[in-house]
Amino acid sequence: MSMKAVVFQGENEVAIEDVDEPEIEHPNDVVINITTSAICGSDLHMYEGRTAAEPGIVFGHENMGVVSEVGDAVTTLEEGDRIVAPFNVACGFCENCENGYTGFCTNVNPGFAGGAYGYVAMGPYKGGQADKLRIPYADFNALELPEEGHEDSFSLLADIFPTGWHGTELANLEAGDSVAVFGAGPVGLMAAYSAKLKGAAEIYSIDRVPSRLEMAEEHCDAHPINFDEGDPVEQIKEQHGGGVDKGVDAVGYQALDPEETDKGDDYAYDPAKENPAVVINSLIRAVRPTGELGIPGLYVPEDPGAPDEMAAQGRLGIDFGLLFEKGQKLGTGQCNVKSYNRKLRDMIIEGRADPSWVVSHRVGLDQAPEMYERFDDREEEDEAFTKVLLEP
Ligand SMILES: [Zn+2]
Ligand SMILES: [Zn+2]
Repeated sequence: MSMKAVVFQGENEVAIEDVDEPEIEHPNDVVINITTSAICGSDLHMYEGRTAAEPGIVFGHENMGVVSEVGDAVTTLEEGDRIVAPFNVACGFCENCENGYTGFCTNVNPGFAGGAYGYVAMGPYKGGQADKLRIPYADFNALELPEEGHEDSFSLLADIFPTGWHGTELANLEAGDSVAVFGAGPVGLMAAYSAKLKGAAEIYSIDRVPSRLEMAEEHCDAHPINFDEGDPVEQIKEQHGGGVDKGVDAVGYQALDPEETDKGDDYAYDPAKENPAVVINSLIRAVRPTGELGIPGLYVPEDPGAPDEMAAQGRLGIDFGLLFEKGQKLGTGQCNVKSYNRKLRDMIIEGRADPSWVVSHRVGLDQAPEMYERFDDREEEDEAFTKVLLEP
């Protein structure tokens, strides 16, 4: 049997193709009928040719749906259950999983710590931008959802809501803290929203796309800082009256250097204007001595499109001397979604959290190629592209 899926064709191109339907490969698997699969900013790293991704990958690591087939050894799920899957594929019983670090499972992707659906170097797992998806170790990897409601919010539990939350956890954000969140893309917005939910006293959101800064202001009570209007660190210090307690990097290695961009430039990424260390160095400056930095933004050990040879090997010019002098701590790494998704689900069910405002588009799977192209341009004149949800 075949089904439709979003398949990577090479730099800046995806297409809808017929691929084989997934089957139960192991008694611990389930197969789901996808109801929502989101396009992620990290899919764009592959789409733009900034990773080692080869043509033929089915994209999609942010998946939810309804169980359609159940392996013989699965004990907690049955046909018809509505579930959301963490983007991490994890076994549940390796040392890292036992300790809650499901983003660094050592069993699901031999030779590497961590697996994911539809992502280069993250194991053999197909993506869910398709009609169906196989979920391995399903008892562990499926989070059950109520039968109906909150489709948009629940779909964000696969990645960006927990990842934003993780950014604040890595920085040990506590009620009453002041925090600077660099990046007001989907993850940055979710980090600023998480800071609000946790009771941060003051939240600064740093970006250059006005529609994103407006969302941060409206939904996260953040102070918008536009780095096209001057050094963002100076702006934060001036408004706050000094360094902030905590910082979150929700940008990662494809960061634009504020000194290379001007007001009025378009918002598409231009590698020539990148400085992969600029956000970490800004955080070191913006956060007070002994403050803490959370870095969920993506960094890679190899970047074929890097602006220079050092960065191509993942080596960045970090101001480590200043970090040391200020006695700051930092936490890095991809999100262990299972550490947070159950509690965040319950906050959604109870009405304490509703992250669905970050969703800008919900469209049919067949529109994926166009959506990738438009999302990659980051912004259009009349509409913001923050989060695109696909439904088969
Ligand atoms: Zn994602
Ligand atoms: Zn594991």
